[in-house]
Amino acid sequence: MSEIEARLALIRERLERAAGRSGRDPSQVVIVAVTKGHPASRVDELLAAGIDQIGENRVQEAQAKKPEVRGQATWRLIGPLQRNKVRRALELFDRLDAIDRWEVAAEVSRRAVAAGRVVPVLVEVNAGGEVQKHGFAPEAVPGFFARLHELPGLRVEGLMTVAPWAEDPEEVRPVFRRMRELRERLRDQFGLELPWLSMGMSHDFEVAVEEGATMVRLGTALVGPRPAAPGR
Ligand SMILES: *Cc1c(COP(=O)(O)O)cnc(C)c1O
Repeated sequence: MSEIEARLALIRERLERAAGRSGRDPSQVVIVAVTKGHPASRVDELLAAGIDQIGENRVQEAQAKKPEVRGQATWRLIGPLQRNKVRRALELFDRLDAIDRWEVAAEVSRRAVAAGRVVPVLVEVNAGGEVQKHGFAPEAVPGFFARLHELPGLRVEGLMTVAPWAEDPEEVRPVFRRMRELRERLRDQFGLELPWLSMGMSHDFEVAVEEGATMVRLGTALVGPRPAAPGR
């Protein structure tokens, strides 16, 4: 068993228990492996272990890494996107999981339409209300959805959040709960299903799953400690 397979087995156990505590089916939670800071060979190890959802938070890093990966993965951009990197991002990523501003959404849509594509995306919500975090304020999200018809190149499939860091992840439970309630509100208001609730990372994924996460983004717990890299 590889190191990654051993970590994955532990994560699956923890995920199953967390799902069980809230009467959920653990198979309804997708694991995204966050490979930022790790080499392409790690991505291939993950693929060998059966994980094919790969999250990267920077366009440039993915651009360097992706050509060196041998296997077939679904590449997901989980970090903020600048307008001037949208074209590159659309070449590299299958999915954009952190749409955090109208201007970026509009640029993605414009380029997708020009390319004859519809890009599946998640809308990032700053559910913890921290000033340094990306994403729409929760109260601004319905307004965004009300204007979705202006973005024919996007298919919004859910919401994503990065919860504030807390020593005890119990403290951020209300943040995850707010996300679930927001999704329910959007379903009622706009009749949208929004299957994906991407929330929970290495440190807090169990609480996120208990509160309804359908996608968790795991870096250190699954892929291992990140080798030191500048700017992180
Ligand atoms: C780095 C990162 C993760 C994974 O973080 P870990 O704590 O290592 O699991 C998840 N989501 C986003 C947006 C990230 O940037």
